[in-house]
Amino acid sequence: MKPSFNNNHNKNKKYMIWIIVLASLVVLGAATYFVINNPSILNNSSGSQGTNLESKENEENSDKEPKEQSDVDSSDSESSPQKDDQKPEVVDDNGYIVGQPEATEPTYVDGVLIANKKYPLPKTFQPGEDVDARAAFELMGADARKAGFELVAFSTYRSYEYQQTLYNNYVERDGKENADRYSARPGYSEHQTGLAFDIGEVGREDLWLTSEFGETDAGKWLVNNAHKYGFILRYPQGKEKITGYMYESWHFRYLGIQLATDVKKSSLTLEEYLGIQ
Ligand SMILES: [Zn+2]
Repeated sequence: MKPSFNNNHNKNKKYMIWIIVLASLVVLGAATYFVINNPSILNNSSGSQGTNLESKENEENSDKEPKEQSDVDSSDSESSPQKDDQKPEVVDDNGYIVGQPEATEPTYVDGVLIANKKYPLPKTFQPGEDVDARAAFELMGADARKAGFELVAFSTYRSYEYQQTLYNNYVERDGKENADRYSARPGYSEHQTGLAFDIGEVGREDLWLTSEFGETDAGKWLVNNAHKYGFILRYPQGKEKITGYMYESWHFRYLGIQLATDVKKSSLTLEEYLGIQ
């Protein structure tokens, strides 16, 4: 019995050695493969001969490291390991995204240039007053004259710098809380697109920038007819939560006749129509 036991024992021992060698090769192979595909872990891992468990942990870490490093400048609330377009947004009381970096490109949604509290424009975006919008306004003004109203666009294109001055003055006068309801922070104004026209009636300057203008015959004519020339009333009554602004009877946005007509017929705000915030 004894010799055969020894024989078996030797066989088992040999067998075990082979298993250990093979297992080591597999682990080494896996580790090498992992390091080749994730060279960054060499910087923060003490060695590459870890077990599979360690490799897994490193793999998870290497997913997080580069993003956290690239987010060093942003606030804590935004440094999450999620993909960039899924970051949770923290919105302040006045509708702006906290810690939002300055825009580098303007945003177009379905070909429509967007400027609101969530979609800023670059400081360098300076298109000036839109030529088509101006031509449309002149046409509208001529028809309004026939209907008995003398319309004037008292504020159209505003540069980033001008908006900055304007906004700061409003904040000084009414406080930030109030100013944010009717005036955009620099970079967030639709006036910087060159497509927004603040409209009033000549001779009724006292009603410019007031909700009362919307109750005048001229204001009503505008709401009912502006889309025929390509404009929409951009900040309607009761939509402050969606547009970010209180009712502005005077602020019209040029979209072109087709889109303006479609938006008008839908009774939606531009944000709702385009499915954005
Ligand atoms: Zn305006």
